[in-house]
Amino acid sequence: MVVSLDTVISLCKRRGIIFQSSEIYGGMAACYDYGPLGAEIKRNVRNAWWRAMTQERDDVDGIECSILMNPEVWRTSGHVENFTDPLVDCKSCRARFRADHLDGYRARYKVTGVVEGSGEGQYEVELGPAIPGKVILAGHKVDDRMFERVDKIEYTGSPLACPTCGNKALTEPRLFNLLFRTHVGPIEDAASTVFLRPETAQGMFVNFENCRGTMRRKLPFGLAQIGRSFRNEITTKAFVFRTLEFEQMEMEYFCKPGTDEEHYRHWVAERYNWYIRYGIKRENLRLRQHDADELAHYSRMCHDVEYNFPMGWGELEGIAHRGDYDLTKHMEATHKDLQYFDPETNTKYTPYVIEPAAGVDRTVMCFLIDAYDEETVLDRQRVVLRLHPALAPIKVAVLPLLKKRPEIVEICHKLTGDLMRHWKAVYDDTAAIGKLYRRQDEVGTPFCVTVDVESLEDGKATVRERDQMTQERVELDRMEEYLVEKVVMVPPKVEEPVAI
Ligand SMILES: [Zn+2]
Repeated sequence: MVVSLDTVISLCKRRGIIFQSSEIYGGMAACYDYGPLGAEIKRNVRNAWWRAMTQERDDVDGIECSILMNPEVWRTSGHVENFTDPLVDCKSCRARFRADHLDGYRARYKVTGVVEGSGEGQYEVELGPAIPGKVILAGHKVDDRMFERVDKIEYTGSPLACPTCGNKALTEPRLFNLLFRTHVGPIEDAASTVFLRPETAQGMFVNFENCRGTMRRKLPFGLAQIGRSFRNEITTKAFVFRTLEFEQMEMEYFCKPGTDEEHYRHWVAERYNWYIRYGIKRENLRLRQHDADELAHYSRMCHDVEYNFPMGWGELEGIAHRGDYDLTKHMEATHKDLQYFDPETNTKYTPYVIEPAAGVDRTVMCFLIDAYDEETVLDRQRVVLRLHPALAPIKVAVLPLLKKRPEIVEICHKLTGDLMRHWKAVYDDTAAIGKLYRRQDEVGTPFCVTVDVESLEDGKATVRERDQMTQERVELDRMEEYLVEKVVMVPPKVEEPVAI
């Protein structure tokens, strides 16, 4: 079925999956809080990734780095200088846009300077979303003739109306750095400025030698990390798709130059298949290769795993070939040797890096959207979240058919306690059985166990499965064993060949 974003947002709010942050204070734009069930789902997503990356293979180690790092790291990586977006304001309604996201944005300038053949004077120049000071320089062309000198650039206006209020009041683009800054210690000056990390990747690069040495690793091997990153985005959008604060799951795979393309292909397929393994419908996933002009300056190749979100295809994960860019930059900046000595060939080289980078929040969002379903059963509507059991926040709900019978309630509590040793199991007696089932369906609980009067005689209880709603009587004394087998926590790997 086609699900609207509002439908999923409404379910998230209604069932304690995701809330607006600081809601009782009127919220905080582009910040969200995970409620009791959302926190479980998010943790399950992290665990599924961590398992696939660091536990189901023997060539990747997991690490956890601090969010605050030596600020020089971000100068070396280029984030301090280049991690910018062109920002445009509306002077009328104060709306703020990324110039490069505004369709048809043009800006006009009156430029004082010297143009070849025309001499000194004032010239009209029109530009797209570029920063005028970076483009209108000596050599820039106006009517096929070049500026020989540029003295002054004055903005005269944009012909484009503000998409929010309709007034022609947009400013010229200014560069806006996406790094969040803060200060260490009591004095807020340049020397005390530190940054909240905009990506987790640099933590792996700066620890490459530490980890290689202590773990006695030979190439190829990877370092993986899950953690928070921060980007002061101008335009946030679509629920948790793009937020100021988000959680990343990144892995840097270090390999010998020459073997890099093979590893690149492996990781693109591996990461694409991971989503299918955990239940994403194949038709809602696709791979898209970046065009040359989309590639980050350090990147040689990049594929995105894209998901068909309600607002259109969007990036779930990028698999980038970063070459030796990062290690080389860190070597230049620190004069530390980050090259690899290859004992087999007795040579030294700088490893190449393949980086699969995904966002936890986006992944949670895509699993929720993909799992959402509505159906009519016996004239009654039900919402069912067909989440993979490994991702479901609650694995089993134990429900008494009659909560006034202490013997039944006692059996339920005992069973819930036994099941809790394996994963999240809950007891619920706050409504009639039909309603209790619906509540569990809506949050994706794969199994419900109902203990009834008959259970007292035959020692069995009814197990109801979420998707087909099939029911089976199972002996209480083998219930724990039965459910532990049914709740698949580690789905089999999917080895679908992926053409790239
Ligand atoms: Zn406006």
